[in-house]
Amino acid sequence: MYSLQGSKAIEFIHYFLKKRTNVYTGRFAPSPTGPLHAGSLVAALASWLDARAHQGHWLVRIEDVDTPRCVPGAAQAILAQLHTCGLLPDGLVLWQSQRSHAYDNALNHLVQAGWAYPCGCSRKDIEDAQAALGQRPARHSAAVYPGTCRDGLHGKPARAWRLNVQRVIDDLQLSVPLTWHDRWLGDQCQDVSQDVGDFVLKRADGLWAYQLAVVVDDAAQSVTHVVRGADLADNTARQVLLQHALGLPTPSYLHTPLVLGDNGEKLSKQNGAQALDLGDPLAALNEAAGVLGLPQVRTTPKQALQQWVASWPLPR
Ligand code: GLU
Repeated sequence: MYSLQGSKAIEFIHYFLKKRTNVYTGRFAPSPTGPLHAGSLVAALASWLDARAHQGHWLVRIEDVDTPRCVPGAAQAILAQLHTCGLLPDGLVLWQSQRSHAYDNALNHLVQAGWAYPCGCSRKDIEDAQAALGQRPARHSAAVYPGTCRDGLHGKPARAWRLNVQRVIDDLQLSVPLTWHDRWLGDQCQDVSQDVGDFVLKRADGLWAYQLAVVVDDAAQSVTHVVRGADLADNTARQVLLQHALGLPTPSYLHTPLVLGDNGEKLSKQNGAQALDLGDPLAALNEAAGVLGLPQVRTTPKQALQQWVASWPLPR
């Protein structure tokens, strides 16, 4: 399996892509927590089709920063599944586990600007502070950080790094709520300060947070169009905010419908979604295409992909 080593190769690709003006670059960025399931194939297929329909590049990035959740062999399994489905990347696969230096640089930039601060709170500290404020986190949603360490660690050792959301908004005079257009979901908005609070950039266990890594890498790979599952839609405002803070361009976003399991909840590796049965790749592709509102095609996977590219309805 190929992989990009070091920043030289990334800089070269960046330079090469930049030289071509207005090139669409899309990506599929799975976390290797298990093989692809029916839900993740929808996101992979949609991002591939959108890139092909707009004569763009399509890249794959393995988001293996959350090492405790990574399953050995899952990344290779995902790449093999994509290959079986005919979804082939146009460049080398980027592995987030090799990108610490880039995330370090980004965090340093934020610290220098006064926009990131160390946090010494444990989960219990945060819950206690919220309870004291009379706040109870909504079901399924992460608690809003009450800002305990924003003005100093109060003698506690530093554990994590957080973004000072309000300071970024104030210094850069960003509008509140933050608004963006999703090519599938329509106009969206979120008040990051109020709804999310100062989110984590580097975790207490020393691992890089998804929000920072995804923003740094979308820019490093010159991604112009993010197409991914709707479960990730509510991360978008945080990512747009970070792009502003890091002086990076904001790609356009499209969030695809989710595949629901029998219990009505989002199909995910966490709730035991089955790995795709790729004994019949055409059947798996047709199922994913159906979720995207595309017609069923009974030929070969290759011809099916061609037909869906030709009928892909979404403008750029
Ligand atoms: N790695 C994330 C996941 O597998 C997706 C990240 C993204 O597409 O922004 O859920």
